[in-house]
Amino acid sequence: MSDVKHSDPDCIFCKLVSGKIPAKKVYEDEDIFAFHDINPWAPVHFLLIPKRHIPSMAQVGPEHVDVLGRMMALAPRLAQEQGCRPYPEGGFRMVCNTGGDGGQEVHHLHIHVIGGPRPWVKG
Ligand code: 5GP
Ligand code: ZN
Repeated sequence: MSDVKHSDPDCIFCKLVSGKIPAKKVYEDEDIFAFHDINPWAPVHFLLIPKRHIPSMAQVGPEHVDVLGRMMALAPRLAQEQGCRPYPEGGFRMVCNTGGDGGQEVHHLHIHVIGGPRPWVKG
């Protein structure tokens, strides 16, 4: 998509992808990066992001269907690897805050994957 930059030099998550800022990596492939949230709400809390800079779900188009689908399909496997108990007793929460009203603070599309035994710090 020509109007979306592949990387934004001012974006904190692009800096995590490029290694300019350290991250506790959970998973990486050619298109996807996952890392522990710096301020976890729960025993398991990691973020799944496309490596390519997409500001939010509001900019998603047909060209992103493949990477988003793969992120969704990857989440259960990574959640279990990170310590979420199996469904249905266990499980996890996936959250994708979008825009100011959606509570988005970092404007590089990310899916929170949150889980582990309760109580949680938040949520
Ligand atoms: P949002 O509110 O945009 O959905 O969530 C952004 C998330 O990114 C927050 O949960 C916050 O803790 C996390 N975060 C912000 N900056 C960093 C960082 O530099 N490293 C890591 N690992 N997480 C970050
Ligand atoms: Zn970015």
